[in-house]
Amino acid sequence: MDFDLSSEQQLVVETARAYAREHLLPRARERDEKEIFPEEELRALGRLGLLGVNVPESLGGSGAGVVAYALALSEIAAADASVSVAMAVTNMVAEVICAYGTEAQKRRYVPQLCSGEAVAGAFALSEPQAGSDAASLRTVAERTPNGFRLCGTKQWITSGDRAGVLVVWARTGASVGARGISAFIVPAGTPGLSAGRPEDKMGLRGSTTVPLVLDGCEVPDDALLGAEGEGFRVAMTALDGGRIGIGAQAVGVATAALEAALAYARQRRQFGRPIAEFQAIQNQLADAATQREAARLLVLRAALRKEQGLPFSREAAMAKLYASEMAGRVCDMAIQVHGGYGYVREFTVERLARDARVQRIYEGTSEVQRLVIARSLLKEFEDHVP
Ligand SMILES: Cc1cc2nc3c(=O)[nH]c(=O)nc-3n(C[C@H](O)[C@H](O)[C@H](O)COP(=O)(O)OP(=O)(O)OC[C@H]3O[C@@H](n4cnc5c(N)ncnc54)[C@H](O)[C@@H]3O)c2cc1C
Repeated sequence: MDFDLSSEQQLVVETARAYAREHLLPRARERDEKEIFPEEELRALGRLGLLGVNVPESLGGSGAGVVAYALALSEIAAADASVSVAMAVTNMVAEVICAYGTEAQKRRYVPQLCSGEAVAGAFALSEPQAGSDAASLRTVAERTPNGFRLCGTKQWITSGDRAGVLVVWARTGASVGARGISAFIVPAGTPGLSAGRPEDKMGLRGSTTVPLVLDGCEVPDDALLGAEGEGFRVAMTALDGGRIGIGAQAVGVATAALEAALAYARQRRQFGRPIAEFQAIQNQLADAATQREAARLLVLRAALRKEQGLPFSREAAMAKLYASEMAGRVCDMAIQVHGGYGYVREFTVERLARDARVQRIYEGTSEVQRLVIARSLLKEFEDHVP
């Protein structure tokens, strides 16, 4: 693996870092406390080219690739994970339209996602009773003379009430399970589409997570994204890429927690010296840094494979699984190093721990990542036994 970043990758990362530190970090606590959606910040990310990092320049993206995207996302997440989740979903929606859309769909939707004009993209797959088992979704898309009528309820949709462009999954075929699911591009404001009250979440409080109601929402034929009945494959491909994003987000949050712990350990004195001089504290810092680095490498390996057009599903699942569990441990370590001060809102590590928790749940829980990894291992084994 080549660790030298190209000048283009370096520029993307430095742009993200500078914006994160100068503009996101100072108000991250306020967005968390007051649940302020980062609309202006997302528009700014669009202007900086960070909402379509892996999208071709011809469609308004930066064309800088998946490694640059993962590194940039980590920088944003280190400052404010709420902004990073909206950024990640927007990139994912832009990429899935690039991968499966017609030329007309790409030209109509991708530039507005990348520029920030659409504010955000939303990925509407989960339903109240269909989470890990997404193939059991019940939203239906009935044929009409000119297109489809969507009816059903979506659950947990990040930026679902703010996004200008939504991709919605619905059942077009009579068959149960993965077959007969199709994906649709639904612009915000389409009659019959409405968002419910944002969830009152433990973390990511600057990001909105909403139910969506599709009540006879009519879309034209050309709203279909990919072939009819192929929607589940569209979703799974997008989620493979999305998991690299969540892994990168986890690395960013863990990096912020580790830096906070290092700073605090040097400054906090007990028994007449900085607590950083106690070996018990040093061991925690060393373990956290090692695990954060291992996660970073897993994320970059998955990103590089995707960028090179190699299979990356297993690698993305490993990166997401390890990085999200690592972030939980590192945030917990950072609270421990802060002692009682780690348990109060005044110190950042408390917010970081709340923000990190969901990384083990969304875009496939840890249990689901283990299923993906184990299935891939067993298949490889079967393919190689004589
Ligand atoms: C903040 C937030 C934002 C989200 N954003 C989006 C979004 O933008 N778009 C979207 O479509 N969804 C989104 N989600 C939904 C998210 O992807 C789901 O919550 C997740 O897939 C888990 O589904 P569930 O919550 O229904 O849990 P369930 O699937 O009901 O799982 C409950 C528990 O059972 C375990 N489990 C389930 N099946 C198995 C199995 N076969 N083997 C072992 N264990 C199993 C799970 O791992 C989990 O521990 C978001 C969720 C949250 C919390």
